[in-house]
Amino acid sequence: MPKRILIVEDEEKIARFIELELKHEGYEVEKTGNGREGLKKALEGSYDLMLLDIMLPELNGLEVLRRLRRESSLPVILLTARDEVMDKVAGLDGGADDYITKPFAIEELLARIRLVLKKAETLQKAAKGSDESVERNPNRYYYDRLVLDVERHEVHFGEAGIELTNREFELLHILLENKNIVLTRDVLMNKVCGYDFVGETNVIDVYVRYLRAKIDERFQIKMIQTVRGVGYVIREE
Ligand code: CA
Repeated sequence: MPKRILIVEDEEKIARFIELELKHEGYEVEKTGNGREGLKKALEGSYDLMLLDIMLPELNGLEVLRRLRRESSLPVILLTARDEVMDKVAGLDGGADDYITKPFAIEELLARIRLVLKKAETLQKAAKGSDESVERNPNRYYYDRLVLDVERHEVHFGEAGIELTNREFELLHILLENKNIVLTRDVLMNKVCGYDFVGETNVIDVYVRYLRAKIDERFQIKMIQTVRGVGYVIREE
């Protein structure tokens, strides 16, 4: 089933552009340029995600979010303008799942949508507590002839063992766990180095270089792909 996305954005050009790109990616899309109507649709419709502008006629985005959150946990990504820093903070406090600042690269928006949808799916599964819940996540990940074994903390390529540092291992683990999802440097940083790590996000570039030297170059594969201006991804072969 295609995921359904609701766009609430009163700038027709932006809304139309996002709609076309999302449809191109296989999402089902509805849009409205009015806050009150957006809220109504979000509460009535069966959407998987809402893209919500802040400055909207009738009901602004933050108010839409506040009212939505009384009854619904529908994932929300805020579309904010550069000078709306306080609104971003208020939005995240108010239960937005993420925000993106206009103007943005469409690839960046698509990456964030995939992440938020994936997070929502994981939460849903965990909440259901079915056998398909998080515990059943595999302990091994594969790419080509590479195997990453989480429990043993080992990586092999065919018969050959690969020595990785903890952070290299974590980085590879996260990329394999999220195959086909482009992860931004910020996200990778937080996961690999921890939220309290203070440093440049280009440390991720350094770890990627190490991984490529130890794996891609050694075994002549192209596993870790760079998505320019966004981050990294390992795609299904
Ligand atoms: Ca607006």
